[in-house]
Amino acid sequence: MPSPLRRAFDYLPPEGCHGAAKPGARVTVPFGKRSVTAVILSIRSESPVAPAKLKAATALLDEQPLYTEKQRALLDWAADYYQHPLGEVLPLGLSPRERRGQPERALTETGIRLTARGQGLPDGAPHRAPKQAALVSRLKLGPLPVTELKAEGFSSAVIKALKDHALVEDCELTTEGAWQTRSPPLPANPEQQAAIDKIVASAGAFSVHLLYGVTGSGKTEVYLQSVADCLNRGRQALVLLPEIALTPQTLARFEARFEAPVIALHSGMGDAERDRAWTSARRGRAAVILGTRSSVFVPLLSPGLIIVDEEHDAAYVQQDGFRYSARDVAIKRAQLEQCPVVLGSATPSLESWHNAELGRFQRHSLTQRAGAGTLPTLRQIDISGLELSAGLSPELLHKIEAALGRRHQVLVFLNRRGFANALLCHDCGWSSDCADCDAHMTLHKTPPGLHCHHCGRRSALPRQCPRCQSRRLVGTGVGTQQTETFLAERFADFPVIRVDSDTMTGRQAMPDLIEQLAGGEPVLMIGTQMLSKGHHFPHVTLVAVVDADALLFSPDFRGEERLLQLLTQVGGRAGRDGTPGEVLIQTRHPDHPLMQHLDQPYHTALPALLNHRIQAGLPPHGALGVIRCDSQDRQEGLGFLSQIRNSIAAPRGAQIIGPLSAAMARRKNRYRSQLVISAGSRSMLAKVMTDLITAAEAARHSHRLSWSVDIDPYESL
Ligand code: ADP
Ligand code: ZN
Ligand code: ZN
Repeated sequence: MPSPLRRAFDYLPPEGCHGAAKPGARVTVPFGKRSVTAVILSIRSESPVAPAKLKAATALLDEQPLYTEKQRALLDWAADYYQHPLGEVLPLGLSPRERRGQPERALTETGIRLTARGQGLPDGAPHRAPKQAALVSRLKLGPLPVTELKAEGFSSAVIKALKDHALVEDCELTTEGAWQTRSPPLPANPEQQAAIDKIVASAGAFSVHLLYGVTGSGKTEVYLQSVADCLNRGRQALVLLPEIALTPQTLARFEARFEAPVIALHSGMGDAERDRAWTSARRGRAAVILGTRSSVFVPLLSPGLIIVDEEHDAAYVQQDGFRYSARDVAIKRAQLEQCPVVLGSATPSLESWHNAELGRFQRHSLTQRAGAGTLPTLRQIDISGLELSAGLSPELLHKIEAALGRRHQVLVFLNRRGFANALLCHDCGWSSDCADCDAHMTLHKTPPGLHCHHCGRRSALPRQCPRCQSRRLVGTGVGTQQTETFLAERFADFPVIRVDSDTMTGRQAMPDLIEQLAGGEPVLMIGTQMLSKGHHFPHVTLVAVVDADALLFSPDFRGEERLLQLLTQVGGRAGRDGTPGEVLIQTRHPDHPLMQHLDQPYHTALPALLNHRIQAGLPPHGALGVIRCDSQDRQEGLGFLSQIRNSIAAPRGAQIIGPLSAAMARRKNRYRSQLVISAGSRSMLAKVMTDLITAAEAARHSHRLSWSVDIDPYESL
C-alpha cells in the first residue's frame, strides 16, 4: 500500500483466521519478495488462481473493518470515476499510522481533571505560578485530554506540579456528552432563514443546495445554523474549506459556536494529531470535522450534512497523482450517505450554476450584505497608452493617496510574485529563460536572484548579459516586490505590507496580519491571490487590481470565469464595516465584454460564458478527459500517445484530439504532451477512457516515460 496496479490479488485467509476476516479490514500479505499491508476488498469461496499457487495472508490486522461501508463505496466510486488504481485511492481513507500497517489509535485518551481540592481553589490560584493557575482555570470547564493541553503549551512539568499538590488527577476520557450550542445563533435575516429552512427540511435524504451569497452576506451563519440542526439530530457535519491555514477565522467561528468536539484536518498538522482526528471522526466522537480537500474521504460514523465552502475554488482540485475534485466527490458522498450537501460561494463555478439552472441543485440566494456593510462598486481604469509607475496608473495612485489621506486601508492586488517577470538584455534581446522549462525565470530583489516559479531552479543575478556582455539589463513585467518598493517610497508615511508566499511563511503569518489590520490604522497592502481568499478586511475601502489582462487572455479555458471570480472576490474584501468600498481594475481592454459587465451582479455574466463553452464543446457541456504523458524525450511522448490513440477503434459520440504538447511543453526538463477526449456523455467518456487506458497499459515504453489520467480536467488544455 499504496499500489499503482490496476487489479486486485487473491490470497487465502491468514492461518487461524478463517471466517474472522471482513472486507475493509487490513492484512499483511507476501508480495513478491516483500511483505505489504493490504486491504480486504471482498471474500470469495473460489479463485481463478490455481490452489497450489494461492498464497496465504500472513496476519489479520483488524478485527473490525477500518472503512465504513459508505466510505468504501465512495472510494470505489472515485477510483472508477477518475479511472485511477484502487490501490492508490484506498489509502486516502486511512490515517497515516493505519497506512503504515499500525493499529488504529485508541479512542479513549488519558486526560486530567481537577480534584475536589483543585475545584475549591479561588480564581487565579496558585498565584505564584501563573502557568499552573492558567491550567487550573482551563480545567474548571471540565476534564481535557493531556495531548490537547500539551498542544496548548502546558508542559509535563506544569501538570506534574499540580498533581504533586493533589490539585489534578488522571482520568480516562470517552467524552460522550450532549452536543450543545455554546453561543446563540445570530438572528437570521429573511434570505438566510429561507436557506436554512430549506437545508434543514431536506435532512435525512440526498439533495444538493447551491448557496449563492454575495461576499459578506452571511453564508457562514447559514452553515452554522444548518450544522446546529444536524448536531441536534445526533449527526456529524463535514465542512470542507479550500485552505484552513489561510482562513483561521472560519475555524474560530465554528469552535466558538459549538460545545462539541470540533476538529480540523489540514496539511499543517502532524501525523499523531491526524491519527487522533481520524479515530474520533470514525467512532463518532467528533461532531464537526473541518478539513481541506482530502478530508472528503475521512471515515464518518453518522454524517448528516456536508458543506463545501467556496465551492468554486481551484484548491478543491487535486492536480497530480490521483486527480479528483473534492467538491464533486462530496456530492457523491452525500448521495451515498443520504444527506444534504451545501455548496456555498459568492462566485459559483459555471458547472454548479448550470446544475442549478437545470434544477439538479436547489439554489438559495443571499443578495444583501448581512449586518453592516454595503457592496463595493467596481470600475475599470483604461491604461492603454498610459505611462505606468511600477504597474500603477496616475489615476490609481491619486486614489490610493486620497484613501490613505482619509486614514483608510488600501489593498493592491497583483498576481505575480518577485520583482519582474523576466530579465532582458536591451542590446541583444537575451532573456532569462529557465534551462529546464519553457518559461522565463523571475527576477527577485529580496534576496537578489533569478527564480523559476515552475521548477524551483535558482541562479545568481547576472551583472551583464551572458550573451553579449552588455550591462543594459532590464526587468520586464511588474511583480509584487517592485510595486512594494515603489509604493513604500511614494507613501513613506504609511506602512506598506507585501502579502505573497515569499513573505507569508509560517502558520502565524496570516493571523498576525489580520490582527495588525484589525486596529484600523491606515495600511497599504500589496499582494497576490492569497488576498482573494475568504478573509475579512473590514477597514479596507479601496481595492486596486493592477493587471486584469493577464487572466483575460490566458490559454486556460476557464480564464474568463476565473478572472470574473477573482475580481468579485478581491472586491469582496473591501468595505465591510459600513464605509462603501471601491474596486478599481486596470485594463488595456475596456471594451471586452467581461469588463463591460463589472457593475452587474456576478451571475449575470454567466449565460454568455456558458454559451462560449457550449459552442466550444467544453464543460459544463459534455464530458472531458485527458491522458497526460510526461517524458524525457519529446518524440517518445508523442509517439506513445499516437500509438495508443491508433490502437483503439474510432469512437462514436466522442472525439480524441492530439497528441498535442501541453501549454508549457517543457517543465523540469520533461516534455509534457496529452490526448484530449471530448465526449457527448459521461458513459461515452468512460468507455473511451477505459479503452485508451487498456491500450496504454499494454503499450511498451521506456521507464523515462510516465502517463496519467485526468477526468474533468481543471488545468488549461
Ligand atoms: P460570507 O461568508 O457570506 O462572506 P459571513 O458569514 O462572513 O459572510 O458574514 C459577514 C458578516 O456578517 C460577519 O461579520 C457576520 O458575523 C455578520 N452576519 C452574518 N449574518 C448576520 C445576521 N443575521 N445578523 C447580523 N450579522 C450577521
Ligand atoms: Zn545581450
Ligand atoms: Zn524551470
